[in-house]
Amino acid sequence: MIEKVLIANRGEIALRIHRACKEMGLQTVAVHSEADRDAMAVRLADESVCIGPAPSAQSYLKKSQIIAAAEITNADAIHPGYGFLSENAQFAEMVEAHDLIFIGPTADHIRTMGDKIAAKQTMIDAGVPVVPGSEGGIKTISEAKKIAKKIGYPVLIKAASGGGGRGMKVAETEKDLETAIKTAKTEAKAAFGDDAVYLEKYLARPRHIEIQIIADKHGNVCHLWERDCSLQRRHQKVFEEAPSPALNQAQREEIGMIVAKAVKRMGYRGAGTMEFLYEDGEFYFIEMNTRIQVEHPVTEMITGIDLIREQIRVADGKKLSFTQEDVILVGHAIECRINAEHPETFVPSPGTITEFHAPGGLDVRLDSAAYAGYKIPPHYDSMIGKLIVHGRTRNECIMRLRRALGEMVVGGVNTTLPLHQRLVEAQDVIDGNYDIHWLERFLGLK
Ligand code: ADP
Repeated sequence: MIEKVLIANRGEIALRIHRACKEMGLQTVAVHSEADRDAMAVRLADESVCIGPAPSAQSYLKKSQIIAAAEITNADAIHPGYGFLSENAQFAEMVEAHDLIFIGPTADHIRTMGDKIAAKQTMIDAGVPVVPGSEGGIKTISEAKKIAKKIGYPVLIKAASGGGGRGMKVAETEKDLETAIKTAKTEAKAAFGDDAVYLEKYLARPRHIEIQIIADKHGNVCHLWERDCSLQRRHQKVFEEAPSPALNQAQREEIGMIVAKAVKRMGYRGAGTMEFLYEDGEFYFIEMNTRIQVEHPVTEMITGIDLIREQIRVADGKKLSFTQEDVILVGHAIECRINAEHPETFVPSPGTITEFHAPGGLDVRLDSAAYAGYKIPPHYDSMIGKLIVHGRTRNECIMRLRRALGEMVVGGVNTTLPLHQRLVEAQDVIDGNYDIHWLERFLGLK
């Protein structure tokens, strides 16, 4: 039985996991690097262990150090959060080999879904629609040319081990194909140590719509509706909402059931997200994330379900605390990722936060580990926090978000707050009328 959870992460997600644990009556252990001694989760956790110097490779990615920290503190389970070791199959195996519980799916599921070619094949077998493209990896240029000609240009070359939007190259015509493949392979090798690439039709103006699922070890699977994460810069999400303004109830029920069925067929357990591109009424699977995601709070706000709590329960062998009929969609939620970055150039802005005021009021949630006097270390990602707002209608949600953004103060560093203030005034955002390229056009980058 889980009584003590080691949190193998940092920043807002470490705090988020700590909060869920406390509400379940569980003890927490925060592990941290030397640069994160003053972190909020470290201060609030029941125990903390320093696992190494600032660079992630020497701390948050050090599997053996984290497991040793769990052993000396007598933790029962490890929650990996997102990023770092959350989708590392070898780490999941190591955790279990040490008689600890990994709060996540099995190593096999992490491994299969981490290979996007294998993931796509699994989905095809489960009857999930995918983006048309090569069946498996690209072996020769002439084979790639044949496939591209068949599905039509432009095409996208993607890394099998890809993540974070890296290792993707568009080929507009056959002329660009060879270079695109070679560049994608080189980038993929450098970033992921694996140069396997595959080819997909490049969709011109899709939306990014993803379905949240959670499954227990007893064969119960629920979907928790969708999130629309189309507002992206460099394939990185900036602003997310649920439900998607592009879907009606019948469409969301249909895709939710397709996904839940596929997940059940896989024998998957834990939380996960199936990501799709959506264009002209059709869904196309792109990948599955086998972890909790940054944008999970929008789903929590429309369903009232604590996803981290459920992750811990199912890892502990318990049944989901609800059935599909209990997952009722109420109102609308939007999340803004607030980064310590210049709002126009996006240059990171580490440094000390001199002033910090969190917005509040009905249905306003701030998931942030920042505070006045907090020094943002330069070693990690630049997210300061996430502002999540709920409303009974999408319009109420936008009005509330404008109000909350206006109250929030972060002094001493540049932040993307002004960008979000512009977004909530933009007519296309108000109308819910945008695709994955909209933000880059809005920013004058395209
Ligand atoms: P990563 O794991 O690197 O995030 P994904 O496969 O999830 O890669 O894709 C990230 C983003 O790239 C998508 O949200 C979408 O904006 C864009 N993208 C991916 N595949 C395609 C495609 N076939 N056509 C157009 N855009 C795509």
